Amino acid sequence: MLKHEFVLPPEHLYPPDEWRLVEARYTDDHALAAETAFSLSNGFVGIRGTFEEGRPALSPGTFINGFHETWPITHAERAHGLARTGQTMVNVPDATIFKLYVDDEPLFLPTARVHPYVRVLDMRAGTLTRELVWATPAGKHVRVRSRRVISFEHRHLVAMTYEVTLLDHTAPVAISSQVVNRQDTRPPDELHEDRPADPRLVTLLGHRVLQPQAADVAGGRILLGYQATNSGMTLGVAADHVIEAACSFDAAGSADGDAAEFQVTANAPPGVPIRITKYTTYQVSRSIAVSELIDRCRRTLDRAVGDGFGALLVKQRDNLDRFWERADVRVDARADPVRLQQAVRWNLFQVAQASWRAEGTGVPAKGLTGQGYEGHYFWDTEIYVLPFLSYTQPRIARNLLRFRHSMLRQARHRARDLNQRGALFPWRTINGEEASANFQAGTAQYHINADIAYAIRRYVNVRGDVRLLGEIGAEILVETARLWADLGFYGADERFHIHGVTGPDEYTTVVNDNAYTNLMARLNLSFAAATVRRLRAERPGDYTALVHEVALKPGEVESWEQAADAMHVPFDAARGIHPQDDTFLSREVWDLASTPPENFPLLLHYHPLVIYRHQVIKQADIVLAMFLLGDEFSRDQKRRNYEYYEPLTTGDSSLSACVQSIIAAEIGNEDHAIEYFNYALFIDLAGIAGHSSPDGVHIASAAGVWSALVFGFGGVRDYEGQLSFEPRLPSGWKRLEFSVRFRDRQIRVDLSDEEERFLLAEGEPLDVVIRGEPHLVTTEAPAVIKRSLPSASPGAASRSP
Ligand code: BGC
Repeated sequence: MLKHEFVLPPEHLYPPDEWRLVEARYTDDHALAAETAFSLSNGFVGIRGTFEEGRPALSPGTFINGFHETWPITHAERAHGLARTGQTMVNVPDATIFKLYVDDEPLFLPTARVHPYVRVLDMRAGTLTRELVWATPAGKHVRVRSRRVISFEHRHLVAMTYEVTLLDHTAPVAISSQVVNRQDTRPPDELHEDRPADPRLVTLLGHRVLQPQAADVAGGRILLGYQATNSGMTLGVAADHVIEAACSFDAAGSADGDAAEFQVTANAPPGVPIRITKYTTYQVSRSIAVSELIDRCRRTLDRAVGDGFGALLVKQRDNLDRFWERADVRVDARADPVRLQQAVRWNLFQVAQASWRAEGTGVPAKGLTGQGYEGHYFWDTEIYVLPFLSYTQPRIARNLLRFRHSMLRQARHRARDLNQRGALFPWRTINGEEASANFQAGTAQYHINADIAYAIRRYVNVRGDVRLLGEIGAEILVETARLWADLGFYGADERFHIHGVTGPDEYTTVVNDNAYTNLMARLNLSFAAATVRRLRAERPGDYTALVHEVALKPGEVESWEQAADAMHVPFDAARGIHPQDDTFLSREVWDLASTPPENFPLLLHYHPLVIYRHQVIKQADIVLAMFLLGDEFSRDQKRRNYEYYEPLTTGDSSLSACVQSIIAAEIGNEDHAIEYFNYALFIDLAGIAGHSSPDGVHIASAAGVWSALVFGFGGVRDYEGQLSFEPRLPSGWKRLEFSVRFRDRQIRVDLSDEEERFLLAEGEPLDVVIRGEPHLVTTEAPAVIKRSLPSASPGAASRSP
């Protein structure tokens, strides 16, 4: 059962709402803790949910996907092939700031003088709004409304409105719109020293990262340029202002490299709003000069100002309508239905925010909502985010796979660094180089290669199109297969073994024959071989190009097939379970029941060696394999494995709960399935209740919420390209509705106590399997299975005519 507890945010402060996250009252602590939950992003730019006035703030942040600084990793003891260069996503100049002064008194939020107050993240509109009335020290009432959009349509564009209305008196008003470069605020030494030894935290860089290259202001337009000190990446930031006011006002601007300001002053009569619309744009590059980036910024601003804020809102809604049309999941729970529905949508919305315009970039572990894990891309993308995207937003899934392919050159070099053939993708990276200084729990996770191969296979299966294989997939598959063929070896038992690797469970490192790795490597090898054969037969042009590109040698394909056939998969016949690796079961079992709650996560309280020598698991490992490769395990093995590993699993990684929920659902353990699902569902939203971390949203878990709903409770599988459904509606839910896009068909699934409906909303008829029975779904005739209450077993299903 769960080793971590969570508390939900109080309803009087955060009233449930199906489509919006609402903060109904202002309290210091909660507003700060909600900074992560109110973040906005479009996958290119991300801004944490801080207040316009800049204070109070827990950890303000604006991030551009891929824009990073590098720094030398200092190893106390050096060794060949250790990662040498760290990469950290940069906190770029913050353009959200509007300081408001009335009678020269600043609006500073932590005060009893703010009432009413409401802040809303609208997940259909894609906006963050706030409205409050401030009673100034002189007793005047001022209404302040603000709205923020990070455009899903225009990748580089952020727009905000800030509107001030005196309600009962005339008063001098000054609104200072600012762009603040926080890079020069080097964290104090104490902060460096007192930091917990937590690998999840961002590295605090001791040097000034952003070197100002240009600063200009003309009218309401501010133009700034920077270059990152070590990485050399360039950044252009520009903002423009449009003022609407039915009273006279003055406006003036100034700019230098660290702060730019545009100030509007007026003697504001009551009832006359002063509204500033601020358009901001960011451009980044690895090679283009700052001046060119600033030119691009100018063009974006010209267009944005010309189109206006209203047009942006319309497009934002259009984009999100497209997202929800395919991604929405409706849950009708018997208890707390609105809160559950809200949380489901909030998680899915986070994945949209993290990936919608991730073009030529990956998806960082925290999206663009915080600097946790340094803004790095991990296997989280391929194993957790891509299933959701492949089934709902294939355009984005394809972009992300193409992005992986763009790292192949460095992955080939990395394999050489590790004395191996083929390619080895980095465990964590922004720019394609391995950035994990921890080789045991990092670089040794060779399974990243197979995770990428798996994601390609799944995408091709779900789309039913082989073009991607010819374009980029086959090249990755060949190079990753080569790595496995070279890394593994035939033992005296004539089986193929892979030694000295770490599986997904980072509490057990550098082991022999990790079952997850071997199973996934087997799939990588056999799929690479099948792909080469398929291209040779079906797409000779692509095949010829591939042979040339990767210098494919005679016999290579056969050698992968042999290795796959001979792959050793550890199995303990006496217990009927798969050992996680060849020595796992012989280790001492960690006494989790007696571990004090405050000692979780273990990684912050025990030396790695202590953890490594025990049977204790950070996150689903075998249990994950049973989900990804479900057709390679019998039902009985799934149950036995789950029951053995679940009590050993701490869930210290957020990547665990959603997977445990899926397998618990599959083996019929509804209590666990719901408990783990709820944990994944609320892992970030519960943070608002007071334990929020500024590190950002757990994106893998957010996408895992969709997987738990669709693969877990919806029982969707696509083994060998055959779509099948084995629904398991939890007894506490009245209804579950979701869609999957499969081979150009849109299939809507509606599960209730009474019946299960499978409707083809778009596309050619499709053969599916429902509860083990073949069905043809067409646009005219949904498949309808009547359920016999209380719970349907395969035998209880009846077919509709
Ligand atoms: C997990 C990894 C994951 C990383 C980033 C770690 O805590 O153990 O599996 O890739 O977080 O989310």
